[in-house]
Amino acid sequence: RMVSPESGGEETDSGLRPLALDDFIGQQQLRANMRVFIEAARAREEHLDHVLFYGPPGLGKTTLAQIVARELGVGFRATSGPVIAKAGDLAAILTNLQPRDVLFIDEIHRLSPAVEEILYPAMEDFQLDIIIGEGPAARSVRIDLPPFTLVGATTRSGLITRPLRERFGIPQRLQFYQPDELEEIVRRGARVLDFSLTSDGAAEIARRSRGTPRVAGRLLRRVRDFAAVDGNSTVDAKAADSALQRLEVDARGLDAMDRRYLQCIAEHYGGGPVGAETLAAALSEQRDVIEDVIEPYLLQQGFLQRTPRGRLLTPGGFGHLGLEPPATLVA
Ligand code: ADP
Repeated sequence: RMVSPESGGEETDSGLRPLALDDFIGQQQLRANMRVFIEAARAREEHLDHVLFYGPPGLGKTTLAQIVARELGVGFRATSGPVIAKAGDLAAILTNLQPRDVLFIDEIHRLSPAVEEILYPAMEDFQLDIIIGEGPAARSVRIDLPPFTLVGATTRSGLITRPLRERFGIPQRLQFYQPDELEEIVRRGARVLDFSLTSDGAAEIARRSRGTPRVAGRLLRRVRDFAAVDGNSTVDAKAADSALQRLEVDARGLDAMDRRYLQCIAEHYGGGPVGAETLAAALSEQRDVIEDVIEPYLLQQGFLQRTPRGRLLTPGGFGHLGLEPPATLVA
């Protein structure tokens, strides 16, 4: 009954994924809250209220959804917004759930309106209203569903329609990780991947991981590759630094795309303000990628400001590129 949700693409790292709330590093407040809600649901022998995890990609939303199911001791079923094309697809999933199961819907902001429509009564009353047949013979049928927990994930809660957002009893925001938390994640990863990493080597990788466990995992693997080919049995800060330089990850953890973004604003738009749409066109990137992946970290690092008139590079942003901010900005 357990369905593995390992999404393809990214190197699947079942080994790196923490399986219990106690093994999950960071997001302390969120974890403490979730522990209480899970305990309470278990004690009452009831389903857990619906949960919405939101925050930039790679921070652990999918991992947490799996942990929630495991800690509740229930089944886990995973799907994603764009995959559920028709109302009937969702109906098929919902009617196959066992009582108290966790249904995980990634990218829940990408559900079509017709699908969302049937999700509302399913979430609220555990009922499904479906139309059978067509034309004059069509009739509406109501099906009772087992009580279940919907865990939704999205990169920005603002992308979700209000009626959907309001049906989640437990909205939880994920934050970027602190360097010491990422260091622990990196050290744990090195143990799982079975290679020798000094603590300053781990710190170096952690500092340059964009506050994101997924990036930390990816950098760790690449650093390991370089070490293996260079014949280093142990990776220290120097070896890590040299590998990260070859990967074009700079001292603050920005990658080539991040720098291209900053450079574009600095050099083509005099530091801004410039709109997201214009930047997306100038960089040949999707606007979603700009807003969900690139900008959140640059904002958090203080390199960028979002204003009503558009994106603005800060003096720190200019400084990072080795450029002087224009006089108007400093004044
Ligand atoms: P999201 O769903 O938010 O995009 P995932 O849950 O897929 O993120 O996590 C991305 C990767 O980072 C996974 O490989 C996961 O194992 C790892 N990861 C995420 N959070 C943590 C954490 N707190 N500790 C250790 N590894 C983590």
